[in-house]
Order: sequence, then C-alpha cells, then structure tokens
Amino acid sequence: MFKKILIANRGEIAVRILRACRELGIRSVAIFSDVDRKSLHVRLADEAYPIGPAPSRESYLSIEKIMDVARHSHCDAVHPGYGFLAENPALPRACTDAGLTFIGPPAEAMEALGSKTAGRQLARRSDVPTVPGTNDPIEKLAEAQAVAQSMGYPVLLKAVSGGGGKGMRLVHSDAEFESAFRDASSEAMNAFGDERLYLEKYLERPRHIEIQILADNHGRVVSLGERECSVQRRHQKVIEEAPSPIVTPDLRKKMGDAAVRLARAGGYVNAGTVEFLVDQNLDFYFLEVNTRLQVEHPVTEQVTGLDLVKLQIAIAAGHRLPFAWETITPRGHAMEVRLYAEDPANNFFPSPGKILSCHVPSGPGIRLDDGVYEGWTVPNDYDPLLSKLIAWGNSREETIARLRRALEEYAVTGIKTNAGLFLRILSDPDFLRGEIHTKWLDELLRRPNAATADSNADETGSAVSNAAAIAAAIWQATQGGAPSAAVHECDTPSRWKLEGRRAQLDREP
Ligand code: ADP
Repeated sequence: MFKKILIANRGEIAVRILRACRELGIRSVAIFSDVDRKSLHVRLADEAYPIGPAPSRESYLSIEKIMDVARHSHCDAVHPGYGFLAENPALPRACTDAGLTFIGPPAEAMEALGSKTAGRQLARRSDVPTVPGTNDPIEKLAEAQAVAQSMGYPVLLKAVSGGGGKGMRLVHSDAEFESAFRDASSEAMNAFGDERLYLEKYLERPRHIEIQILADNHGRVVSLGERECSVQRRHQKVIEEAPSPIVTPDLRKKMGDAAVRLARAGGYVNAGTVEFLVDQNLDFYFLEVNTRLQVEHPVTEQVTGLDLVKLQIAIAAGHRLPFAWETITPRGHAMEVRLYAEDPANNFFPSPGKILSCHVPSGPGIRLDDGVYEGWTVPNDYDPLLSKLIAWGNSREETIARLRRALEEYAVTGIKTNAGLFLRILSDPDFLRGEIHTKWLDELLRRPNAATADSNADETGSAVSNAAAIAAAIWQATQGGAPSAAVHECDTPSRWKLEGRRAQLDREP
C-alpha cells in the first residue's frame, strides 16, 4: 500500500480524499495556490506545499509544479480528484515518468473513452446504444446539414472537446443551422482551443442517468448501479440521487452490462462513470464517459456502503476488487445537493467572499462533504462549490424529509448560497413524484414561486431563505418572459470542468 499520496486538487474533493488517506493510514500531501493558503484542505492535510499564484494555469494545472512537489515530499502516488487535471492523459504519463502511481485510469483508456466522439465510436463497436448522430467530427457544414435533415430536427451541435455545456447549440430548422454552427464552433474554440463539432439528435425531456463502474487491474469490472442526475440548471447537474425513481432491476442490469462492456472495450481501470440519456420508453442512449471520480459519487457510497476513494486507492495499489457486481444492490435511498456560493436572486451569479458565520447540519442520515469553514474567504478564482450535502433514508420520502430538515438547519452568513433553491425543489409535487427530466428545473425556474419569500433571511445573507422565489421573479423580470430553449444559455458553466479540458488541449500537439 502507498505511504504518501499527493492530492492534486483543492476544495471539498481534496478534503474528501485526504480523509480517506487518513483512515487508511496513508500520509496526505496538499498543494495550494496563493489564495488557498488558509483553505480547509491545507489545514487538514499532513503536509502542504505552495504551487503558485491563483490562476489555475499557474498552479493547479501545472503538471511540472505538481511533479516537483511529489518528488520533494517523497510521495508514491497522485490522486487527481475531479476537474483540473483529472481527465488529462498528460498527468498519468508524467506520473509514470516520475515513478509515481496515478490513482485513476491509464492514459490510453482516458484517450479511448474521454473524447466525446471517440467514446461514441467505441460505444457503437461495443453494441452500446448511442444518441443518433455523427460519430466523427463534422468536416463540412453541408454534410452535417444533410445528416440533420435525415434525422429530423431538433438536433444538437456539440463540441468534440466539450464540457460544462460550452459549444452546444440546439437547432430547430435548416434556416438556423449555419449560424448555430458558426456560433458553436467559435464558442468551442474560445473555451477549449478546439472548434470541432459533432451532431446529435436532440432528445426531448430525457432523464440523465449514469452508471458508476469500478475496474481493477485483474480483469474484474463491476457496475455499482445508477445515479439519477436529471435535475439540472442549464444542463449542469444540481441534485443527484440513487437509486433512480424509474430504474427497475432489469433496466439497472441492462445499463450496467452496457457500461461494463464499454469499460472493458476501452481497457478501463479504476473508477469511472458512463453517462446515458433515458427517454420516456426507458430506452437508454450513451452520452459520454467521465474517466474520473464524479462530484456526485457520495450518493453511490451511501446506498452501497462502499468507499469509492478507498477503492480507487486500493485498485491503484494493485489490489483485486473484493466483490462481484451481482452482489451489489442499492440499500435505501440517497440524495445530494451541491451547495454553491452563488446568488439565486442574481441569476445564480457567483458570490465569493468571507464566511462570517456558518452552522452546518448533522443528525440521522446526514453527511456533509465540506470544503469551507467559518472565517474563511471563498476565493473568486475557482468553481464556487462550498460543500455537498447528502442525505440517506430508508425510502426516497425519508431521504427528502431529512435533506429538507438539514437544509433548514444550514445557515451561513456573509455570502449568498443556493440553499433556498433546494427547499423549493424538494417540496415541488413533480419532484416528490420523481417526475423529472433534464429541462424540468429550467422550466420550474421560469414559473413564479408560490411560496412567500423570507425577506429577513435574505437581508442577513442566510442560506435558509426563499431565494428561489425571488430568483424566479427577478429572472422573469430581467429576461422579459420565457427564455428560448437554447442549450447555449449556460453562462456559468462548471469552471473546474472547463479549465481541466482547456489545459488538456493546451498540451495536445
Ligand atoms: P457536457 O460534457 O458539456 O456537460 P454532456 O454531453 O455531458 O455535456 O451533456 C450535458 C447535458 O446536456 C445532459 O445531461 C443533457 O441534459 C443535455 N444533453 C446532452 N446531449 C443531449 C441530447 N442529445 N439531447 C438532449 N439533451 C442533451
């Protein structure tokens, strides 16, 4: 087993990983940029080293600096977390060159499965259904337009190197095609340095359901079941749960089989996620593979009783997975909300700043994967994810009741958070019935909130506010009625996802 692991990340995920290290008796090494000197991950790690100024290109994305710290601190392995360098094959390669173990998939598997078009090609060859569309990057606009005509509109133009919803355009007709194509390629070029696009049929109101897989170095690949991530704002996940309200044991088995087949075909090792869209007929279609630990991994942990980070470390150390996937059935129900420093009343604009006071929830069935503390200043430089609040219960109903209770206990002042939005979602009749789809939250936010806003709470910046009501009202007022259904509305894409992919492209020839 390893003696010392460098955690090439920050925030709640760095804290999550170092906690696993501590439980395994492995020393943890944190890295930090100038603005993160007092961060929670730095405080809790066994050792911590500065790696440069705030911009992630000069710190968390610098493989050279990270390798220097790993060598000087005598680490034997590197855990990338999610975002930043987690999906960049240059990191596992640099680890191999430096004689370090990378806690994640081999670089070749990242390449075979990580790119959206490469993943689609492998899925087709592995008999895994894909959303209809092109499997190669589009070379000529006219060709793509012909494909769109034959599939029928609406279609979705997507960036080959996409992430965080950037470079996506919904196209309803031939007349819109050319300008949408130009807009999407220039957005993709700006975001990823890669203008290539491909085309998918736009599925109306699908669910996003993904399969967590684990694969060891000895040929065992297992599915740990699904997570439902259909509650999304502008195509970015906001709430995740396991099991999905609509997945039957039979569908779980079929989706798990497909995910395992694909992982095997790509030579996958370690933890990964195969994402699918599921339509009203419960037909599922491959979307993409995330070749890393996901933000939402705790919901799988809560219903399987497994510790995914410890298993990642064990796999990287060469251990065999100690169970077959037939033995994994979800127990109870788990749900996660992503608490962000953002202002729902101001179009979810990031709200960094000093946390003046912070009361965090606890009690039965509650887990908080935290990255902050009272008195700390949330920097403006990174994704403003504060913490993930996860509830577990015997049933979906009990889980929701616990999550609501915990959100009511949660109180932070000094910054705005999106906690009020979750209270609105968790009492919505559609949500309670599990009748959700990927456009459901966007549609909810366009409707005025019937609940009355708690102006007092809002004045103090308390998280326990009815900010969602105000957000919906203000959103409507500022947007001038119903917004268009365009997917490119994503003005606040996940920053870690974008930056990680950008860095990857910087390194490609
Ligand atoms: P990114 O990597 O940019 O986040 P994904 O391909 O993972 O993009 O898709 C993100 C979300 O966008 C999905 O969960 C879904 O809500 C929506 N989406 C993507 N492709 C389609 C499609 N073909 N039809 C309908 N919605 C889609």
